Amino acid sequence: RQARPSVATGPSRLVVLAGPTAVGKGTVAAAVREDHPEVWISVSATTRAPRPGEVHGVHYLFVDDAEFDRLVAEDQLLEWAVVHGTHRYGTPRGPVEEALADGRPAMLEIDLQGARQVRRTMPEALFVFLKPPSWEELVRRLVGRGTETDAERERRLATAVEELAAESEFDVSIVNHEVHDAAAELVALMTLGNN
Ligand code: 5GP
Repeated sequence: RQARPSVATGPSRLVVLAGPTAVGKGTVAAAVREDHPEVWISVSATTRAPRPGEVHGVHYLFVDDAEFDRLVAEDQLLEWAVVHGTHRYGTPRGPVEEALADGRPAMLEIDLQGARQVRRTMPEALFVFLKPPSWEELVRRLVGRGTETDAERERRLATAVEELAAESEFDVSIVNHEVHDAAAELVALMTLGNN
């Protein structure tokens, strides 16, 4: 227990996982889902189309622009952002509040803009920065994913440069050497002090 004793150990136990593009936030979240079912993970709303294998209500709530507008207008999102200059992503507020009220360790996997918004509204959360083992590895992962066009990839690379510089804004960093190890480290942080 160091600088911020209430983080992740008090009544809230909310962890916000962010980090640069393609660092593997999504796969770490998937590993947490698989290895640690006791952890509640927020399902974001997004206006982007599902990728093959993605299930509505599990990976995202896939909504159209009108529905996203409605969520924003009704203040149903804890945070939201336009990610990579294209689609909107946001965290539904109600389910997070319910999970925390139930005393479950809860996690958001969101981009940096979103993390900054949550930091303003829920400063007691624990903000975890997921780091790549190296810049070269990040580039390799960014290119290796192969789901984007060249223009999209360049935009993501530029975003990643800026995002790497944000580490100092976070409470803790985890290096994503191996996805299940990173997930275990993350869960250890969430449950620290709760036994
Ligand atoms: P993808 O489209 O590859 O699933 O995700 C793109 C980016 O959107 C990732 O960096 C992911 O962290 C971010 N993201 C996913 N859900 C949310 C959310 O609810 N809010 C914010 N601000 N970013 C999100």
